[in-house]
This record gives sequence, structure tokens and C-alpha cells, in this order.
Amino acid sequence: MSSRLEPAPSVLYVVGTPIGHLGDLSPRARSVLKKVSIIACEDTRHSGQLLNQIKVEAPLISFHKHNTQNRLPKLLDVLKQGQSLALISDAGLPGISDPGQELVSAAREAGHDVICIPGPCAAITALVSSGLPTKRFCFEGFLPAKSKERKQRLKIVTSEERTTIIYESPHRLVKLLEELVQLCGKERPLQVARELTKQYEEQIGRTTEEVLKYFLTQKPIGECTLVLGGAPVKTQEKFNDSQMLNEMLALIANGASASESARELANRTGHSRRLLYSLLHQKEITTESN
Ligand code: SAM
Repeated sequence: MSSRLEPAPSVLYVVGTPIGHLGDLSPRARSVLKKVSIIACEDTRHSGQLLNQIKVEAPLISFHKHNTQNRLPKLLDVLKQGQSLALISDAGLPGISDPGQELVSAAREAGHDVICIPGPCAAITALVSSGLPTKRFCFEGFLPAKSKERKQRLKIVTSEERTTIIYESPHRLVKLLEELVQLCGKERPLQVARELTKQYEEQIGRTTEEVLKYFLTQKPIGECTLVLGGAPVKTQEKFNDSQMLNEMLALIANGASASESARELANRTGHSRRLLYSLLHQKEITTESN
């Protein structure tokens, strides 16, 4: 147990709050929220409900994506004056697809201590309950809404070999599922966690096609987090230098240019095109000198 008295002056506390079940607010989070000088939160009315229930009386100050730059100097001033400051979001961990990161970074920059009081996070809760590999994973958050950026990001996300966690709002879920089926095929493992920690918590899986079929008949409602299985690992062919050179020469003999043959072999072997070019170049030099 930490010997430090909490909350300490001039410290920013990043406090995790429940993503549904009120019982998930930790005793430590509760204690800090009750004793801290000021609480910054996304929506004072929304957080007011939780804070009223636990009889928190500290003043609230709004801090959200539309007033971040405006609020930062004021919040830094609170810390500078020796007061303690807690940051919470509407639900879960601040800074995870929620405002917070800029404040943490500014507080650190100004030389203040920042302490996270850990709590629930939908991403990690969905991941560990999905049954998909947890050893290496990526967090994608919300995908961009704009068509061009979204397409580019989806291409990256769907070729990712690690398990990927995606947040999505219920009214855009079916569109995303259709995109995933189109890009990953029907069989890619997928688990959607709906209403985690709440009364109607539900897990829907196990493949892209099955999940899409489900939500085409059951209108998505509530909060959803997707856990997408990684793309199949590409097996690279193993060649030594002379085999690679022979493969490239065979492609060139069949009409490919030097650059096309190097690109093809780079894709198949994972070697850089530069190395493959140099093999072709060496061959040219040896042939010329003979
Ligand atoms: N900061 C939060 C966290 O730590 O999880 C995330 C906030 S983000 C604005 C909200 C998104 O998180 C939702 O659209 C949904 O994708 C996911 N989410 C939040 N609560 C959830 C829940 N109870 N069940 C499933 N997903 C949830």
C-alpha cells in the first residue's frame, strides 16, 4: 500500500470511473474524489449524478474536447496554487477515446505529478472477455468517419496481425460490420461486447459474418466494443540469394521489368527491394565482366 497521503497538493489524479456497474468504482477512487479540491469532468451534469450518489462535494469544472485549450491554463493554475485536481470522464478511463491526454501532458510539462487511479476500461474489458489472443493487441478507438481516411485506416486495421479493439457507436455498427466482412472475409474471428458490466451485457461472436447476420436482425442498441481477430500471419517463402536471383531472372524472362521482379520477390520473401536489386545488379556486373 502506498504510504503517500491522498490526495496530495499540486497532484493531478486521473481517475477511472465505471463503464456501467457502479460497484466498479474502487474505494481508492471514491476516497480521492471525496477529498480532492476540484474535479474536472467531461459533462458536469452527467458526472454530477455519480458524484452525488457517493456524496462528493468538490466543485466541478467542465473539461471536454470543445474547451480543452481554453481550460488548460485554468487547470494548471489550480495545480500551481497547491490544490489537488481529479480528472474523470463520462465513463471509464480518461484519455482513452476521451479527453484527458492533453491535460496529463500539460501537467507533466509544468512539472506536476500525475497519478492514475486505475479503473474499468471498455477496451480491456472487451478484450479479456473475447477469448481472442491477448498476448499482443492494438487499440484503434473510433475509426475516422470521413470516407477517404476511413478506407485507409480500415485497410491497415484489417491487415493487422494482432487482435484489434475498435469502439463504435450503435448506429454505425452495421456499416462497420459490412466493411469488415468485405475486407476480412466472412470467417475472420470477431467478438462484439455490448453493454459491458450492465444488466443486459451481451457477447456476440464468433465470426464477421455471424456478427453481421445477428445485428441485421437485432437492431444494435447500447454501447458496443469490437474485438477483431488478427489477420492470418503471412508465411514468407525462404530462399537463399542465388534462388532469389533465379526467381527474379525467371520473372524477367517472362516479361516482368527488373523493378516488378524485385517487388514480387520482396512480397514473397520479406526481403527489401534494395537487397533484391543489388542481387540483380551484381549479376549484371558479373555477366559484363565475363
Ligand atoms: N474512456 C472510455 C473507456 O475507458 O473505455 C471510453 C469512452 S468512448 C467515448 C465510448 C465508447 O467506449 C463507446 O462508444 C463504446 O464503444 C465503448 N464503451 C463504453 N462503455 C461500454 C460498455 N459498457 N460496453 C461496451 N462498450 C463500451
